Amino acid sequence: MTGATVSEAPAPSDAATKSQRLLARPLRLFIDGEWVAAASGETFDFSDPSTGRVIGSAAAGGVHDIDRAVKAARRAFEEGPWPALAPADRGRLMMRLADAIDACGDELAYLESWNGGNPLRSTRAVDVGGAAERLRYNAGWVNKIFGDTLLSSARGSTFSCSIREPIGVVGAITPWNAPLFMATGKIALAVAAGCTVVLKPAELTPATAVRLGELVGQVGFPPGVINIVTGFGSGAGAALAEHPGIDKIAFTGSTAVGRSIMTQAAKSMKRVTLELGGKSPVIIFPDGDVETAVRSAALGVIFKSGQFCAAGTRIFAHRRIFERVLEQTARIFTAVKVGPALRPDTEMGPIISRKQLDRAMSYIEAGRADGAEVVCGGKRIPGEGYFAQPTVLAHVRPDMPVMREEIFGPVVCLAPFDDAGGLDEIIALANDSDYGLVARVWTRDLGIAHRLIRRIKAGSVSVNGAGGPGAGEGLPFGGFKLSGIGREGGHEGVESYTEIKSVAIGY
Ligand code: NAP
Ligand code: MG
Repeated sequence: MTGATVSEAPAPSDAATKSQRLLARPLRLFIDGEWVAAASGETFDFSDPSTGRVIGSAAAGGVHDIDRAVKAARRAFEEGPWPALAPADRGRLMMRLADAIDACGDELAYLESWNGGNPLRSTRAVDVGGAAERLRYNAGWVNKIFGDTLLSSARGSTFSCSIREPIGVVGAITPWNAPLFMATGKIALAVAAGCTVVLKPAELTPATAVRLGELVGQVGFPPGVINIVTGFGSGAGAALAEHPGIDKIAFTGSTAVGRSIMTQAAKSMKRVTLELGGKSPVIIFPDGDVETAVRSAALGVIFKSGQFCAAGTRIFAHRRIFERVLEQTARIFTAVKVGPALRPDTEMGPIISRKQLDRAMSYIEAGRADGAEVVCGGKRIPGEGYFAQPTVLAHVRPDMPVMREEIFGPVVCLAPFDDAGGLDEIIALANDSDYGLVARVWTRDLGIAHRLIRRIKAGSVSVNGAGGPGAGEGLPFGGFKLSGIGREGGHEGVESYTEIKSVAIGY
């Protein structure tokens, strides 16, 4: 792995000492403003994917704990200081939480990289910085949640309007690839709208969610507004999805679990927003800035070792530049410094678990067996931890599973397109997917860009590297097709945590 040896211990730092102290005892559940063990007394271990070693344990919350947390969140929603708080005061609490995140940013980044395996340099800037930004951006919405003044079609003297109210108690279920960023994002949207929350973080990465809970208590959120229940998907997660006291489930994770959550939600007509997977296309035309396009595309797949829902894992390059794009992508991938997440010069860390590494490897093997060419990488990296080589696959046909399914590893598929079929051919290639999260287009031709923007089925379209999830919180983010339902970000994000009420007043 380009010189990296996993035996190198991270340099001792204040952040390291604080993180080690936090994990020295089992992490507990944050319910109604108190730290408690699971009702069952059970705990589970979690690990450092850079070494495979256990680094801590957390309470295994179950049905009973979820029930307690939901009841606390319900009380906080209906009674107490929370519903009486002026919106601007909710905003102030959110700002304080953002400041608290910044104030212990190095510690949060260390903890996140240690437990989640993403390189320190990216967790500090993207995950921790992004978490604080999500709170600040959404704090701005608290007093801008509007209804409309309406004209009824009925005759008579009537004044009609719509008002937006918080949806109620939200169950937030988050994945392991961006634990703090996802947890904070869902909490930010919920509290901005005036809701209360029960968060169930991924079992593989509970550490930063628990640290976030400490900050929530520290900055003065009333008890029960934000509750955090660590545990398994099949235990705490399923209990949250089934609980009749939950008004909305906000989920990020796999399409399979998203589907099961929607099925559960149907029973009590819970609202759902689902942010699921992707197999996002990157389309490079010869008139675009090819150099920048390739760099951006390659680094986009390296980011979080490819464990990123919006990763552009299908690169389509015009046939005139295809060989150049292929060669440059392989060159960038081969030079990437793969190593332990806590090493300061690491550019790509491990995959989260042995299971996910095995899964990525089996996709590469299937691709090879189906006739794809492994241009670079393709192997796991021996030694401790769960490391894979960044992998470029060429001669990939549209029907191969490597081209169709979300791999969630550092693997990119390249294929050429021609002029012969006009734009229809490339549009068909881009849309030939069950997913529709993000599409990236590189061209200087405005006509081509606008045609593709209109015809590509994806929740976000980025032209020449702009926008997308790196662009901050102002743009709605979410998927078409199997990539999900609903949007986070923009006014749509916060509005999806509200109900609309129509009011008609006769006079
Ligand atoms: P996952 O099972 O969908 O995990 C997401 C969250 O849902 C976790 O907190 C998980 O808990 C919880 N969960 C699992 N089963 C549940 C259930 N029946 N009811 C309620 N909650 C449940 O994802 P995964 O298994 O960790 O990863 C598998 C694949 O999902 C990846 O390879 C990738 O393709 C996709 N994925 C996508 C994203 C994304 O950003 N869109 C993120 C992660 C994974 P546990 O942690 O205990 O399982
Ligand atoms: Mg799972």
